[in-house]
Amino acid sequence: MLNIEFEPDNQSEPCQCCGGLTTSLTRFVYNDNNAYAIYYAKFSNNHPERVVVATVSLGEWGEDSTPAQRMRVTLPLCGLRPILFKRLNDLRC
Ligand SMILES: [Zn+2]
Repeated sequence: MLNIEFEPDNQSEPCQCCGGLTTSLTRFVYNDNNAYAIYYAKFSNNHPERVVVATVSLGEWGEDSTPAQRMRVTLPLCGLRPILFKRLNDLRC
């Protein structure tokens, strides 16, 4: 059974370009109480790009594990449709 541990939301200082706030989320995913994945999400409340950038990391999380045993993918999400392999500056949501 998957369980998700929610860390408190983190908000940035006001953005220098627009005064908006960026919210960062960190979530830990456990499968039968074993570390399974971590995902991060970040979004701004005032930027014209209406996008949530999510990074998901999966793999081995034991004490002896190394980063080489994990994989990571970053998904810019626009309207719940992931857009893969695009630079953030190229997004038009
Ligand atoms: Zn800004």
